[in-house]
Amino acid sequence: MNAPSAGLCCGIDLGGTAIKLGLVQDGQVLARKQVETPHELHACLEAMASAVQELAAEASAPLQAIGMAVPGVADADAGVLLEAPNLSFLNQQPVAKLLAERLGRPVALDNDGNAAAWGEAMVGAGQGVEDFLMVTLGTGVGGGLILGGAMHHGIGGMAGEFGHMTTSHGRPCGCGNTGCLEAIASARAMETLAAQALGKSLPLAALAEEARQGNADARAVFQTAGRCLGEALSEVALLLDIRLFLFGGGGAPVLEFLRPAALEVLDRRSFGRTAADFQLLPGKLGNDAGLIGAAYLA
Ligand SMILES: [Zn+2]
Repeated sequence: MNAPSAGLCCGIDLGGTAIKLGLVQDGQVLARKQVETPHELHACLEAMASAVQELAAEASAPLQAIGMAVPGVADADAGVLLEAPNLSFLNQQPVAKLLAERLGRPVALDNDGNAAAWGEAMVGAGQGVEDFLMVTLGTGVGGGLILGGAMHHGIGGMAGEFGHMTTSHGRPCGCGNTGCLEAIASARAMETLAAQALGKSLPLAALAEEARQGNADARAVFQTAGRCLGEALSEVALLLDIRLFLFGGGGAPVLEFLRPAALEVLDRRSFGRTAADFQLLPGKLGNDAGLIGAAYLA
């Protein structure tokens, strides 16, 4: 795997509500900026371009590269955002090229799950690991697949879309299928299921506290989500012999509650391997994984 560049890079994490930017060097975020995401193409590009220029003006050295993480299906080679559910005005837009024109320099682009995986591969918990899967538990479930030390995009850029793998719970998913992992194990799905089971709405951290105190309903939510997570992970393990799974997103802090059920399923379903062969760990970069990964895309 390539050693991370020592140069100063700018990472852009484009989200549905906020654009987060950072100056990144040696895996550290030296300066940050956050602006609201305008929901119109030209205003959005302008907001990103001026934020990059303001950060560059603060920097002690010239920027070596600029990269961005986008929330949707992306063709990284072409720099095109193919489909973004929460930013549909960017669908099919050559976002990297349009931003590069405004900045007068190249911009790299990739899906946010891929960028997070790349950040962990470069300077996080995946550093030096040839093969691993990054799973992001957020509003949905996303991911990024590192194979042989390189980002695996697949033919259409959709590899690592781990959230729509089919598991045994049978509930409907927004994509039209049933049983998708994200319909049971995304941070949002766990909160929704907990609200039904406990009769009150709780953020995930409070649900974790309930589980810690021994609330059987809260524990059951995590156990079901963890079992389905294990089913999806075991399919990945069977196909690719992946042993390391890293977790990011708002659901990563409850990994300790998901892990026992997931490992139990992995132990049972991963032919020739046992639970001891697998590691399910939180990423090291936390919420900065996408930002830092974006900076290293270029
Ligand atoms: Zn689905």
